Amino acid sequence: MILIKKSSDLLSHISELKKANRIIGFVPTMGALHDGHLSLIESAKQKCDIVVCSIFVNPTQFNQASDLASYPRTLENDIRLLLSKSCDILFHPEIDEVYGNLLEKESSEDYGSFIHVLEGASRPGHFDGVVTVLRKLFLLVQPNQVYFGQKDYQQCLVVKTLIQRSFQDIVFNLCPIAREKDGLAMSSRNVRLNQSEREVAPKIFESLQLVAQNWTITNWELGLNQAQVNLQKPPFQFEYLCACDPMSLDSLTHFQSNAIILVAVQLGSTRLIDNILVGS
Ligand code: AMP
Repeated sequence: MILIKKSSDLLSHISELKKANRIIGFVPTMGALHDGHLSLIESAKQKCDIVVCSIFVNPTQFNQASDLASYPRTLENDIRLLLSKSCDILFHPEIDEVYGNLLEKESSEDYGSFIHVLEGASRPGHFDGVVTVLRKLFLLVQPNQVYFGQKDYQQCLVVKTLIQRSFQDIVFNLCPIAREKDGLAMSSRNVRLNQSEREVAPKIFESLQLVAQNWTITNWELGLNQAQVNLQKPPFQFEYLCACDPMSLDSLTHFQSNAIILVAVQLGSTRLIDNILVGS
């Protein structure tokens, strides 16, 4: 694996690969890698000649300075894990390599109404930061295929829109959520949970499963209400658990067979999100 820290070095390396017609797969991450990230690398390895992973804790997508400051950074272990998956290139730039000396954000305001709900409402400016950094990274890496996790479902809709608008040659790949044995969705932030928080954290996925099991025209609202009640008790600080249309993210007012159930809760000082697709 080649470790590249400079954008100019990455550009010249990619240009050689392009000349040789190599299919480039790209997995953007913020590091503190776990099996969820590695499953994306594995998927990319299956279809692409060269897999590029980026590790960049993007300051413009954090809406809380404390979250950015305490974001886990585990580069040595990340490198070890990437080597174990035969990743070809790791791009690990400093902030100024990506942004110059101005942390300017582009706007995702006109991406559609889905940009303003759920994570968009809870984390103002978050998706502006996401599209800003992804545009920069896509221009540098020039991937044929990109790989994103369903774990960040709303982000996937944002990325698909960015691709439709500006990068039509890139193929988007949605990868399933990797979970711990007890169902908790893997996340870099899970290491921040203390023991008692970690013990109750599986209730998040249990609540999603409860909704999925009751996903019928007669039971759906009952299941949804019960799941909300489960996560409205301490130690959870409930943010949202809702059933939405998978494309528009409009909150459902009537039953529909295909839906996505999305959840966000705060557990101690850690914010956790998860989701499940239901229906045929
Ligand atoms: P992050 O480092 O959190 O920005 O995540 C980088 C990529 O890994 C994103 O596409 C995430 O959706 C994906 N990802 C994060 N957690 C998981 C997971 N548990 N399973 C699958 N993909 C994940």
